[in-house]
Amino acid sequence: MNSSLTSNFGLTERLAKRRSENLFRQRSLIESPQQPEIQIEGKNYLAFLSNDYLGLANHPQVIAALSEGAQRWGVGGGASHLVIGHSQPHHQLELALAEFTGYERVLLLSSGYMANLAVITALLSQGDTLLHDRLNHASLLDAGLLSGARFRRYLHKDTQSLTKHLAAAQGNRLIATDGVFSMDGDLAPLPELAALAKANKAWLMVDDAHGFGVLGKKGGGLVEAQGMGKEDVQILVGTLGKSFGTAGAFVAASNEVIETLIQFARPYIYTTSSPPALAYASLTSLKLLQEETWRREQLTQLVKQFRAGAQALGLNLLASNTPIQPIIVGDSAKTLVLASQLRQKGILVAAIRPPTVPKATARLRITLTAAHTSQQVDLLLNALASCKLGANHD
Ligand SMILES: *Cc1c(COP(=O)(O)O)cnc(C)c1O
Repeated sequence: MNSSLTSNFGLTERLAKRRSENLFRQRSLIESPQQPEIQIEGKNYLAFLSNDYLGLANHPQVIAALSEGAQRWGVGGGASHLVIGHSQPHHQLELALAEFTGYERVLLLSSGYMANLAVITALLSQGDTLLHDRLNHASLLDAGLLSGARFRRYLHKDTQSLTKHLAAAQGNRLIATDGVFSMDGDLAPLPELAALAKANKAWLMVDDAHGFGVLGKKGGGLVEAQGMGKEDVQILVGTLGKSFGTAGAFVAASNEVIETLIQFARPYIYTTSSPPALAYASLTSLKLLQEETWRREQLTQLVKQFRAGAQALGLNLLASNTPIQPIIVGDSAKTLVLASQLRQKGILVAAIRPPTVPKATARLRITLTAAHTSQQVDLLLNALASCKLGANHD
């Protein structure tokens, strides 16, 4: 028995366990662009699980920019940025993002996952300390492990817990936090974190993947929304695959930090640059994000409408005023059943289970976008109402 176990690395057992725990993941095959009405296996659904918060992924101007960019610069990046892959659109986007965020300098990376690896591995090593909110995104966690720094996870948004950990921290200290927490939709208390960082000679890094473009009057994200700036948050990570509707990520920081990343960050150095046309399309997204302010207003309205409706239904909402609106169910199997009941009614929401979220906090994760209409939110609420009744009957 044992020899057959090792001969396939124990994969059969691992996969069977995953299924039996109701944690098995399956991908839906999408046959249409990212938009509220999507097609899967020939059927139409109303989807509430995209991070395309501003509805730019399928925006005609962004599409036109991508193809115009491809006409002008071709498709492939060709090589890494340090070899021969750093093209004009990459550079223009870095300059535009630096101006928009008010930071000294910006560096583009191929994804948010890589941006977090780049920053943390370039800035920290053995003997340093990473202070990490317990609910931070997996990429921040992985980055910390890869860096070799001491890891200190403080209780979610808990400044007392952070203070305790800071007191025991050694070497260079970096506090890393999600801006908007990706599975809960709540916000990091940046003024408190920044004050603690200052008092303890630490730096504060904010991964604002879900806030950038969405929060703040100008779309500058949580840093703008909470009246913070580069003196408070030394390192800001934003992603382009969510509110920008394109792909990639950026780090905004001081000239010295960015230069350090260019010199030492392996996830920046040892990878081919992303297609220049993509950067060109992201420049158009940045313009739309600034000009089409109605998109943020629409989102705010839809979030209000959804919360009022869900509260009237007695649903278990979290304290979130962002487009991320989870409904906590607890049990993974029950969460899957609810998601599939909704799917049968033509509504798609994400069933989020451990290990993505802590044990016994499985949830339906609903995301709203500026491309949704108020009628579509009503359809969602009606479907939730009928599922909830179904759940109470058993
Ligand atoms: C999505 C996400 C990332 C990863 O960004 P990608 O560009 O998709 O790799 C990083 N951090 C947070 C908080 C995220 O939600």
